[in-house]
Amino acid sequence: MTRWAVAVDKNTCIGSAVCVGTAPGRFALDERQRSGPVTAEIDPDEAVRDAAASCPVEAISLVDADTGEPVDLD
Ligand code: SF4
Repeated sequence: MTRWAVAVDKNTCIGSAVCVGTAPGRFALDERQRSGPVTAEIDPDEAVRDAAASCPVEAISLVDADTGEPVDLD
């Protein structure tokens, strides 16, 4: 079964917390108000896809954990 690898570029993240609200339990802000995945590898989750598509600065990377291919965000 496909697994997704989730990552956040903390240098790009502006701490808007859109991802935290869009995919509850999947993202958390650190002490610098920068997001990161709660779990780096997950089963496909439409809320996480929505979060990646909704990030205002496109800081969230979502790829197939096996192939490294980007997950289609549409
Ligand atoms: S939505 Fe994007 S900018 Fe906002 S906290 Fe999440 S990763 Fe950071």
